[in-house]
Amino acid sequence: MDALHLSDRLAAVAAYVPDGARLADIGSDHAYLPANLLLNQRINFAIAGEVAKGPLQNAEEEIARHHLTDVLKPRLADGLAAVMPEDDIDTVVIAGMGGRLITNILEAGHQHGEHYAHLILQANTDVAAVRSWLMKHHYRITAERMILDDGHYYEIVVAEPGMAEYSDQALQFGPLNIAEQASVWREYWQREQQRLQSIMQQLADQNQQQSAAYANYAQQVAQIQEVLTHASE
Ligand code: SAM
Repeated sequence: MDALHLSDRLAAVAAYVPDGARLADIGSDHAYLPANLLLNQRINFAIAGEVAKGPLQNAEEEIARHHLTDVLKPRLADGLAAVMPEDDIDTVVIAGMGGRLITNILEAGHQHGEHYAHLILQANTDVAAVRSWLMKHHYRITAERMILDDGHYYEIVVAEPGMAEYSDQALQFGPLNIAEQASVWREYWQREQQRLQSIMQQLADQNQQQSAAYANYAQQVAQIQEVLTHASE
């Protein structure tokens, strides 16, 4: 992968960046995503924020290689501290991290209560925590997508300022995912359901049907079944 050839995961994230956005990519590692958008003339300005020196150096090398030093600024900073008021950033991407880390970054950057026009978040874990943070901080979810890249499933959540109330079910599975029932998303939850059912079978083989663990798995399976049957309602 390089700035000219994004992985399917990063290409899917990049697709949600609006044309002409002023972008901050937080946790930018090689700066592949902002460099790609600049090279394709989708955007004119971006920040590549990195907390670690090694990944920042990778980003600097990628920026120099593609002669993007005037329009793509590498910054060594923790989270949204990379963004300066004069950058006039309207779009933030945070991708390839755990959901808890993403919410910590959003929380620390929300100290003054300001909102970005577009948040594009790709959490590897704990996506429900990300949705919950968005709801509590007056963002509404405008797009959701699950993609399969190199054998791994990844979720993308896009949000903009607005009020929304999401049920526990919507927070866990995604309000738009439930409504849209996309094939990759269904496939992910069908696999998850099968995985949980095979654990339940193992517990049953050990006469553990009365255990709290068994009841917990059974409840999760029922929750998945409920969202998967939404389509036929
Ligand atoms: N965003 C790229 C992607 O999706 O391919 C890189 C993902 S990489 C797995 C995560 C990067 O986030 C690492 O380079 C790490 O140093 C950086 N990171 C972790 N915590 C951060 C923070 N608080 N602020 C900025 N960068 C952070």
